[in-house]
Amino acid sequence: MVDKKLANAHQRLLVEIEDEARATDSWTGRPRFSERVMAAMAKVRRHEFLPSADSPCAYLNRPLPIGHGQTISQPYIVAAMTDFLDLEKNHRVLEIGTGSGYQAAVLAEVAERVYTIETIEKLAASARRRLQRLGYGNIEVKTGDGHEGWIEEAPFNAVIVTAAPERIPQALVEQLKPGGRMVIPIGRVDEPQTLYCGIKDETGNLKTTKTLPVAFVPMVRRAKKRKLWN
Ligand code: SAH
Repeated sequence: MVDKKLANAHQRLLVEIEDEARATDSWTGRPRFSERVMAAMAKVRRHEFLPSADSPCAYLNRPLPIGHGQTISQPYIVAAMTDFLDLEKNHRVLEIGTGSGYQAAVLAEVAERVYTIETIEKLAASARRRLQRLGYGNIEVKTGDGHEGWIEEAPFNAVIVTAAPERIPQALVEQLKPGGRMVIPIGRVDEPQTLYCGIKDETGNLKTTKTLPVAFVPMVRRAKKRKLWN
């Protein structure tokens, strides 16, 4: 049974997310998130995704450390990004930046399949184990560089990037279906970032709009293994 305190904190968090959605309407154009997205936020228990599962902070509306210098995103941002994708039950989604696997779990509640890429092998491995334990048979995790996308599984109905590159990686646009949506934070390292929402048109261009100011970890290039001596 879930601890009563955690369950109460989870309920309060859902109300806070709804309040924040109303307060940020002028940036997002979405004063309410869809019922399906809010049901996913209610179902997925964030404390399961933290290094210490009984963390009293699990249901605070803020990012938290997950080790390896990385963070689990703020719940309101997870809800806002998921909402923007307008996911349907039969959709296939690509996520860049698996981290704890929390965002992937929320996506897996509203879409058919989730493909998620993480550059840090240990995080990918622990997210994979955690998602399996929680029964998510519709999420695939791989270690790799998200700049390249996941060509074997493309095209996707939606792409969500949860680390910030300086510009939109072309491979991710190419691997998105026409009419598909992308949500991605953009910004130079140590400078303010903006969350871009985009829709790919029939000619293959991504039409983007700027939405919220955000703070994600930078999207890094995965160092190729290289020999020091021949
Ligand atoms: N979505 C995560 C939080 C993302 S934190 C969650 O729900 O917990 C951002 C993650 O992006 C970090 O784990 C970081 O290691 C990863 N990352 C950074 N650059 C990347 C890249 N090029 N490809 C894939 N993952 C990357």
